Amino acid sequence: MNAPAPPKVRVATTSLAGCFGCHMSFLDIDERLLQLIDLVEFDRSPLTDIKHCGLCDIGIIEGGVCNAENVHVLREFRANCKTLIAIGACAINGGLPAQRNALPLEDVMSTVYVHRRGMSNSGIPNDPELPLLLDKVYPLHEVVHIDYSIPGCPPSGDTIWKVLSDLLAGREPHLDYPLIRFD
Ligand code: SF4
Repeated sequence: MNAPAPPKVRVATTSLAGCFGCHMSFLDIDERLLQLIDLVEFDRSPLTDIKHCGLCDIGIIEGGVCNAENVHVLREFRANCKTLIAIGACAINGGLPAQRNALPLEDVMSTVYVHRRGMSNSGIPNDPELPLLLDKVYPLHEVVHIDYSIPGCPPSGDTIWKVLSDLLAGREPHLDYPLIRFD
């Protein structure tokens, strides 16, 4: 009788205040996706329709933290994932959305929703269903402990694959210089 296959590594991914560009770059691992699918099973991710992060080996998060829902999702990932990875500039330092950090939030909101030419001046949205905005956009590591960061906007598919394949092989992830980028 054949030995049972080893259990697959469970991986969850999500985007907080990000543009999904890092997830698109993840798909740039191209044919290596077939290797990946042999080794991992996806939990919550844009690739599945799972709404909450269950117990996972690896969590990968794109985007910074800009509202109360982002905080909730990030804490859920931290509580359920053994290893948590910040992927991309937005997750590591707030990225483009953090440009608002230099301005008072109320000025940003009134400029966008009240004073901008072409707006119907219906006021700043305040539906209670909308997640509460934070005063600033925060990098992930200022809210929870992060185990690894993958720099870039976005990191290349090769870079993402190197980190993932190292972790899946039980190695400490190591990026050679050509795989590290900050743009
Ligand atoms: Fe998009 Fe760049 Fe932010 Fe990734 S790091 S979510 S590609 S803006």
